[in-house]
Parts: sequence; structure tokens; C-alpha cells
Amino acid sequence: MAKITLQNLAHSYYPNPKGEDDFALKELNHDWADGEAYALLGSSGCGKSTLLNIISGLLHPSQGRILFDDKDVTQASTADRNIAQVFQFPVVYDTMTVRDNLAFPLKNRGASAQYIQDRVQQIGQMIGMEAELNKRARGLTADAKQKISLGRGMVREDVNALLFDEPLTVIDPHMKWELRTQLKSLHHEFGHTMIYVTHDQTEALTFADKVVVMYDGRVVQIGTPQELFEKPQHTFVGYFIGSPGMNVIPAEITGKTASVHGASLDLNRGYDALSGKVEIGVRPEFVTLTDGPGLPVSIRRVEDVGRHKIVRADLFGTEINIVAGESTSISPDMTKVVFDPAQVNVYVDDWLQTGKAA
Ligand code: ADP
Ligand code: MG
Repeated sequence: MAKITLQNLAHSYYPNPKGEDDFALKELNHDWADGEAYALLGSSGCGKSTLLNIISGLLHPSQGRILFDDKDVTQASTADRNIAQVFQFPVVYDTMTVRDNLAFPLKNRGASAQYIQDRVQQIGQMIGMEAELNKRARGLTADAKQKISLGRGMVREDVNALLFDEPLTVIDPHMKWELRTQLKSLHHEFGHTMIYVTHDQTEALTFADKVVVMYDGRVVQIGTPQELFEKPQHTFVGYFIGSPGMNVIPAEITGKTASVHGASLDLNRGYDALSGKVEIGVRPEFVTLTDGPGLPVSIRRVEDVGRHKIVRADLFGTEINIVAGESTSISPDMTKVVFDPAQVNVYVDDWLQTGKAA
């Protein structure tokens, strides 16, 4: 196992990058603590695979260094880094049996026959393929082949890190949950440093101790699921995490007061004069519809999603979402909303402002 350190790391696929836009991965400094489970979360094209492939050694960065436990491995091969990586689509040896596919990384490292026998049996069980160990991989479904790929990634106990790049894409939905649970228990059992790439927030939030959110080639926040929910560092995090995501509303801020189209609301922190694009962010869970004083809204639609209701409304031309309790009755005279002041975040040019305790 190893701590992984990224120093001034950046990557461009162009030989002579002209500016920041030419970088698929913008400069990044970060430590991945030994033995933690991380999820790398972001939409398609934001640079997740680029970062993962740099960590595994499939790709050499155009700038910066990678250290494993303080040893520079920037130019080292994947084999020398002692990493297991599982990709989005299956990589299996078709002419070999499932058993031999799983045993391959162990044979390569010269493990004993008895150990290989036992370990392959155990992994076969984890991926639900015990009964098929003696079948050839050729002719199996894509789903089964991907389970073999996952198994082969997990078979070695002595790797420095286990990397997964959207490994459950081709897996059927019932099995997804099962395999994710297995990965988690594997992490508890062996304490490998794990990095799991996904564009699915549920997958990220259930798998990881820490979630690394990427947006447009940049790491915008690293935090626990709770930190991402309560204090999104960037409006993208607020919008991407949560269902529905955080409401982001243009505002003006004076000290402890926000003003939205001339209507005022209290904040629980104070801010110095702000310049740039100023917005407030508040999660739908902390917005309440009321027939008393508040900001004026018109309700567009109410969706009953079982455990609660989602109200879609318009606030001075900005669409906002409100989460209301299942038993809340929504009446026509509820034409205002109030925000919980402790849960209103202030953003300038999309980045969270800390303000001062007032
Ligand atoms: P993700 O895994 O988050 O979907 P990628 O890391 O694959 O994102 O891609 C990040 C950006 O780099 C994208 O704009 C993509 O088009 C570009 N890119 C990825 N691989 C290559 C490559 N081999 N050559 C040139 N551009 C690439
Ligand atoms: Mg990718």
C-alpha cells in the first residue's frame, strides 16, 4: 500500500499547449492517503481517465511529479508501480478459462500453486462465478467478462493501489449493487488505497470515504459526502451532488444581507465588498414555501417522489427547486419562500466565499 502524492501535476494531449484551455488536466497538488477509498466523480470529458492513467503509469504527465511513499515514480511503468487497474470494458484472455484468467497476475508474480488455487476460489465466489471457473472466457457475455476483469484486478493482495475506471458500465443493474458492495468489503478487508472513477453520484457517495469532484480538467473539491452536501466549494459541486442539486441564484451582498431583485434576506455570516459574478446557493432541502413574508415565487409544478415532494418554481426568472415533506400540503396562497440562513452559501465566480462569523 502506498500514499500517492501529486506535485504540480498537469497534462495536455497537445505537444505545445498554448494556454490553460489546452490542458485536459489543470495543475493539481494532492496527497491520496494510504489505505483510503476515493471516488473520482465528474461528467464525461472532465479528465477523470486522464488523471487515473497518470497515476497508473499508462500516461506520462506533461508537467509535474508523482510520488509513491515519497519515491518518484513519474517515469516508472505500470508494472513497476505495482498497481492493478480495471477498465470500463472487459480485458480478458478469450482462449483461457475463467480460472486461468484470474490466476494470471498471481502466476506472473510466482505465487505458490496452493495459494493460487485458494485465492482464485475466493475471488470466483466474490464475483459470483464459482460455477464457471473451468469455462473458457470466449463465449461468455460482456457482463461476465467484466466480472472476470474485476476479479483479476482484485486478486493480488500486495498491490500499492487498486484503480477502477467506471468498471460497472456494462454490468447489469442488479449485479452493480452487489459488486460495489464486494469492492467495499474488499477495501475493509485489505485496506488497499482504492480510486474509483464514476460519473454517478450515488456510486461515488456509497463507495468512497472521500469524493474528489472534477470539473473541466480541474479538481474542484475533495471531501466526505457530507462536506460536499453542506459546503460545496464550487457551484458545480452544489449542482452535481444532490437530487435535485443546489439552487444558484444571482444576488447582491452587503455585509450580512443578500438582495435578490431588491428583496432582502438574512445571511448568518458577513462579507466584505464582493466583485465578479455574485450568487447565493441554497439546497432545495433548506428552502421552505410559506404564506408569510419571504421572496416571491410562482409554482410551476409539484412532483411527488415518494419520500418527499419536489416543487419546481420560478424566482424572478430563475428556476428553483424546493423539497417539501410528504405530508406538506401545498396551497395556492403559498407564494413566498424562505431560506435557512445557516445554509445559504455565497459564491463569487462560482467559488465559495467563507465570509466572517457575525
Ligand atoms: P473522462 O474520463 O472524465 O471522461 P478524459 O480524461 O477521458 O475524461 O478526457 C479529458 C479530455 O481530454 C477530453 O476533452 C478528451 O477529449 C481529451 N482526451 C482524452 N484522451 C485523449 C487523447 N488520447 N488525445 C487527445 N485528447 C484526449
Ligand atoms: Mg473516462
